Amino acid sequence: MNYPRRLLIATTNPKKRTEMQQILGQAQLDIEIVTLQDFPDAPEVEETGSTFMENSHLKAHSAAKHSGLVVIADDGGLSIDALGGAPGVHSSRFLGVETSFKDKMEAIFQKMENTPPEERTCRFQCAVVIATPAGEAFECMGTCEGRVGYERKGDFGFGYDPLFVLPDGRHMAELMPQEKHTISHRGRALACATEALRKIFPS
Ligand code: IMP
Repeated sequence: MNYPRRLLIATTNPKKRTEMQQILGQAQLDIEIVTLQDFPDAPEVEETGSTFMENSHLKAHSAAKHSGLVVIADDGGLSIDALGGAPGVHSSRFLGVETSFKDKMEAIFQKMENTPPEERTCRFQCAVVIATPAGEAFECMGTCEGRVGYERKGDFGFGYDPLFVLPDGRHMAELMPQEKHTISHRGRALACATEALRKIFPS
């Protein structure tokens, strides 16, 4: 099937959108990238799935049906083993969407104040779905393993990046964007998604 060489990034989170634009921009796919800002009437999608992948499917198919374009959507978040996988699919809604990430992270530090270092394992995960207007779908999953630190550190990134400690001891928010993309859950999932896009949009 020949689709218009236009890809719709279906995320309303501006920080995630910027990261996706940066990563996909580097892939030299020769396609125009548009965002949901170009489709103000696109229906809002309720994240009712119980997994990141299910939510990503919901967002991708809804936007593909509405726009008639190939769509890339992602859903992801932070899963902390000592908290039974929380905040998980509720990462952005944890303690309410109005609660700042600073407060969400402070609440996590408090909940984990007696959790020893070896039990502070966690991971960022990113589930990417590419959906076509014909209803096809391609799935990619990216994971980045780390630990919950004891304080927030770093000014880059977004969301839970300041609490997330990488195996080398740096917090995710201390990494410049380019370096984050080489190791992050989103960078990994989008590397896989780029290969699917090369098949959908052959040069
Ligand atoms: P989504 O928009 O439903 O996918 O929500 C994902 C949520 O997970 C975001 O609002 C952040 O709270 C968190 N999250 C996802 N990716 C990252 C990341 O790269 N760094 C920090 N937090 C992230």
